[in-house]
Amino acid sequence: MRKPMIAGNWKMNKTPAETKALIEDLKKLGNKNGADVVVCPMTVSLAAAAEALKGSEIHLGAQNVHFADHGAYTGECNAASLKELGVEYVIIGHSERRQYFGETDETVNQRVLAALAAGLKPIVCVGEVLNERQQGITNEIVCKQTKVALLNVGEQIENVIVAYEPVWAIGTGLTATPDQANETIAAIRGAIRDVFGDAADRVRILYGGSMNAKNAHDLMAQPEIDGGLIGGASLSAEKFDGVINF
Ligand code: PEP
Repeated sequence: MRKPMIAGNWKMNKTPAETKALIEDLKKLGNKNGADVVVCPMTVSLAAAAEALKGSEIHLGAQNVHFADHGAYTGECNAASLKELGVEYVIIGHSERRQYFGETDETVNQRVLAALAAGLKPIVCVGEVLNERQQGITNEIVCKQTKVALLNVGEQIENVIVAYEPVWAIGTGLTATPDQANETIAAIRGAIRDVFGDAADRVRILYGGSMNAKNAHDLMAQPEIDGGLIGGASLSAEKFDGVINF
């Protein structure tokens, strides 16, 4: 049995003070499904989040990490610094990073390896754009993204989480149907099995894309879907509660 995971991607929202306030509200919520709950604030809000999360079972994640240990990479952040702040998880290869900041499958792989080397658990995002789904090449696209992202991961595969996020469903209010998400996630798990064998059964694969209190239960009822990566619906305790307690 894979433990469910519900991770909130707060994107470029919530100042340090707002982050602290939201975490104080989240700490009051129940967790009836025993999910690993993760919050991923902006980099500048991570220290405030780590402080606010002390003594809580909510886990801390970052939204990106650079692949180099240190050096001339203005504006970037290394894995050691995240680790030192108490970060456990890091989102890598989100479609917004790919779209606006030139991330490729190869740089995603480099970031995954750097995160794992530092003891961080990557949440690796893959997903097709609308045109690719319409052409019927979704599985091909996401399986390639997955295999390249996980090159040379080796035995650390069990510390990796994959998030299937159809790009056309992110922030649009459009959601993949539970069947569509389940089928694509099964294909991703198959790609992981090709490379890592039965360890694929222990890798958690999340769905992300306009998941909210209304659709979370049906998505989570699918056998291949192990959790959710939540954007908009993680920005208030009330909305996030509806997903955490799906
Ligand atoms: C995301 O950004 O990872 C995401 C799934 O966003 P939203 O839930 O807002 O679609």
